[in-house]
Order: sequence, then C-alpha cells, then structure tokens
Amino acid sequence: MKRPILIHPDPRLKKLCDPVPDMSDALRALAEDMLETMYDAPGIGLAAPQVGVMSRMIALDCAKPDNGEEARPLVMVNPRVIASSDERNVYEEGCLSIPDQYADVERPKLVEVEWMDLDGAARREEFDGLWATCVQHEIDHLDGKLFIDYLKPLKRQMITRKMVKLKRDRARA
Ligand code: ZN
Repeated sequence: MKRPILIHPDPRLKKLCDPVPDMSDALRALAEDMLETMYDAPGIGLAAPQVGVMSRMIALDCAKPDNGEEARPLVMVNPRVIASSDERNVYEEGCLSIPDQYADVERPKLVEVEWMDLDGAARREEFDGLWATCVQHEIDHLDGKLFIDYLKPLKRQMITRKMVKLKRDRARA
C-alpha cells in the first residue's frame, strides 16, 4: 500500500527516530509500503519518518535500470555508519519530502554501514558512489536532518519558502 509522503517543513521530519527493538509483521508491512511508495514516487530512497513513522528504518535502491542494472531493493533497520572515508564526493541531491529541489552536497565517498535486515539478521556492507550518498542521506532522516541542512542558510530558506508555498497550493487544490 502506498503511503503519503510528508513534505518539508513538518516537525516530524526534524525529530530523532526511535530504534527498532525487534522485527515484527507490522514493520515488514511498513517495509513493503515504503518500497512501493519509493518506487512509485519515483525515488531511490525513503526513510520511515517521511511517511510519518518515527522508527529507524530506511528503504533504498540506487540500481540504474537504464544501465541494465537489476533492481536491488534494500531495507535497513537501525542502520548505522560505522566507518567513512576521508575521500569525499559531491552529488546533486534531492528528496521526496522536498519535491523538485536539488543541490550539491558533499559527503564521504565510501561508508561502511551496519544494519538489521527484515529477518532480524545483522548485516554489514561497504557502499560507494551514489549508494553511499543515498544511504547517508536516508540515515540523516532518522536523526531529523535534511540535505538542505548542509546548504548555506540563504539557500535553505529559499527552498523552505518554496515548500511552504507548495503545501499551501496543494491544500487549496
Ligand atoms: Zn530525503
């Protein structure tokens, strides 16, 4: 089932999310909903708070079907960056909670992430390139941080004003 995506500014996008104590059928259903919502948007990542659930869970798939890459839906519970490279990378980022706004963000190029999968098993993997940027962007959401928080205040305020207007227009429609 697709779920509505919260649009910035929203207090739920600024909160620290709670760790998931253990897996449950409700969380597995949420995972399915998050993947469906993400693919439908379309997007390459989605964090639980973006659908109003304040739990540490993210979904991502940065595979590029246009380049013949097979889909790789990943759901991470309690994800944590345990190591990151000194080498950094700049990507133009966007966010499903901040539609149609893009800006360059610099982050570590490589990150090692630890998480729990949907079977409750501990997983660990190193990510590079777009996958690394995406997983860091999504984990940031769990700490109430948005990609625009990396931008200069003026640019951030400009984007926030556009989103306030977008929400107002949508409410009127
Ligand atoms: Zn986002």
